[in-house]
This record gives sequence, C-alpha cells and structure tokens, in this order.
Amino acid sequence: MERKTITDDEFELYSRQIVLNIIGFEGQEKLKNSRVAIVGLGGLGSPIAVTLTAMGVGYIRIIDRDIVEKSNLHRQHLYTFKDIGYPKVEVASRRLREMNPYIEIDPYPVYINDSTALEAIKEVDVVLDGLDNFKARRAINKACYKLSIPYVYASAIETYGMVSTLIPGEGPCLECIFPNTSDQNLPTCSTVGVHPSILQVISSIEVYEAVNLLTKRKPRLFGKLLIYDLEELSSNLLEVKKSVNCPICGGGKIIEEEKIEYPEIEEVCSREGKITYIINPGQVIPVEIKSLSQKLYSEGYEVSRTSDFSLTFKVDGNGTFSLLKTGIGIVEGLSSKEYALKIYELILRKILNH
Ligand SMILES: [Zn+2]
Repeated sequence: MERKTITDDEFELYSRQIVLNIIGFEGQEKLKNSRVAIVGLGGLGSPIAVTLTAMGVGYIRIIDRDIVEKSNLHRQHLYTFKDIGYPKVEVASRRLREMNPYIEIDPYPVYINDSTALEAIKEVDVVLDGLDNFKARRAINKACYKLSIPYVYASAIETYGMVSTLIPGEGPCLECIFPNTSDQNLPTCSTVGVHPSILQVISSIEVYEAVNLLTKRKPRLFGKLLIYDLEELSSNLLEVKKSVNCPICGGGKIIEEEKIEYPEIEEVCSREGKITYIINPGQVIPVEIKSLSQKLYSEGYEVSRTSDFSLTFKVDGNGTFSLLKTGIGIVEGLSSKEYALKIYELILRKILNH
C-alpha cells in the first residue's frame, strides 16, 4: 500500500501532538498509515473513537450491534437526544467524519461471535476493546490470536476498570488471564452502574497503548494488567503470563463450545423499564431498508423511523422492532422471547421472498 504523507493542513491540526517527542512527525505519519478496529461503541468505545479520530489514525473501523438508548447518553458523548433509536455505528460515523475529514471511518454493524469475529477485525493493526461482555471478548481474543493482531483489552464498571495489552505469540492472551470466564456471574452496568469518569480514564489508557503500538513504541501494559479504582485512587499493576495450558494460545485442549442455534435471542437488561431482546441472525443477512419499509407500510405496519442503516416499526401498540441492515433485530416492549422471535421470523420471510 502506498504510504501517505502529512499535508500542511494536517500538520496544523496535529501540531500539538507532533511536538511531543514520543510521537513526532514520524509518529504522526505512522498514525496516518495505520488501521484500527474499535469493537463496541458504548462507554469505552465512544471516547476511544473520538480520541483516535481527532489524533488522525488513518482508518478506523467501528463495530457495534446496538442502537442509541436514552440511558447511554450520560456516558456516551458521541450521541445526543436526537440520535435515540438509531444504530450507534451510523450516528458515530457521521459525527466522527465531521471531526476529522482526513481519515476514513468504516461503520460495521455486526453481532460479534465466533463466526463473525475474524471477518470483523481482519486487516487492522490493533483491536481496541469497547465491549461489555465476555462472550464477545472471547471471540475477539481468539480471532486476534489467529490473525496475530495486538488486542488492547479493557473493561470498566462502577468506579474501577482494568486494561492489558495482549500481543499474540509474545505474551498472554485474554484466556490465559481470565480462563473460562462467563458473563453469568459478572455484574453489569445496568445493575451496579458505572461512573462516566472511570470510562474516560480506562479508555484514555487504551488509546495511549494503541498509539504506542502504532508508533512502534513499547506498550506500557504488555505482560501487565492494570487495575485502577477512582474511589480509592488506587492502582494495581499485576504481572500476567502466558499459560502453557491455555486452550487458545497454549497446548490446552479446546473446550467444545455449545452449539448455538440461530437466530439466537438474548435478553438485554431492562432499558427504560422495558425488556429488550437482541436477535443475532448468526450471519450477515443483507436488508434493503427502503423496499422493506415500503412493503411493511403497504401491509399496514406503522414504520416509525428509517435511516441508511435501520428501520423501526411498531408491534402491538407499545412494542417496537428495529432491524439493522445486517439482519440484527432489536425488540423492545414485547411480552415474550418466543413472540419476539416469531415477529423476527415473519420479517425475515419478507426479506428473503423479496
Ligand atoms: Zn492464552
């Protein structure tokens, strides 16, 4: 690929970080010629996206499966009230492009699991963690190991968070540090809450590590796990090592994952008092938003919102069904999982018959 140089306009834009001796002109050119993927555009992913965009990383793939909710806005400052109900990747790509016209933003609305992770992160130099669950992190960890892509892992909740920089083949992978972790017993931000400040701290450290990797400096958190708590103003720096028995990067046996039947439906903690389900088609199902919207309208459905990436229609008065252009369904306010799946399958038939 042809190496791009920094123009005079860009030089002015980035002058205060070019003058930093740990970045410099050479580092800035490296950033311009770099490619990153941010997985998840929530509390960690949105500040990461803003900072890497402003700093001039040349290509940024933003990956997320969700739509903007009112309860996101106190910590996810990429979004405002008028964005509620729209896919995060769509709103974020518009805003990030306004922030920096010199770089490429690539919106990628998929549900991360073992069958989508490899494709989602291919051809990038670094993957940054903006996820909120371990299931998706484990899929990303495996994919990063297979493709030999450094993975800046992070998580945050309440007033504390942790970060580590994982380099495949050189140090531990996520499975070495947190073997066999499931989300079942872990707290979530909808049950115990999260302070926006800790997200700013942890996401900033992730950015610092990614920039170190991209400018070919030694990452500070290689072989280390940083745990930081704002309430105690305490930090712990633990050494983490590769495990010889790791099923991903060591000699351990891979535990057979349970077979998932698609479409898979997941109950997401109640939002604004309603139960929300996210439906994962298992693969990308391309949806022609405009023609599906016309079809639904002609059959008497009330289509309340359409955009380039999604459409939303009403079900049974107070339920809403949003469909992303990759086939992900987000259902709010329906009485049961079974009913949500029934509607999803009905819509799927309309798409496939088209
Ligand atoms: Zn490992």
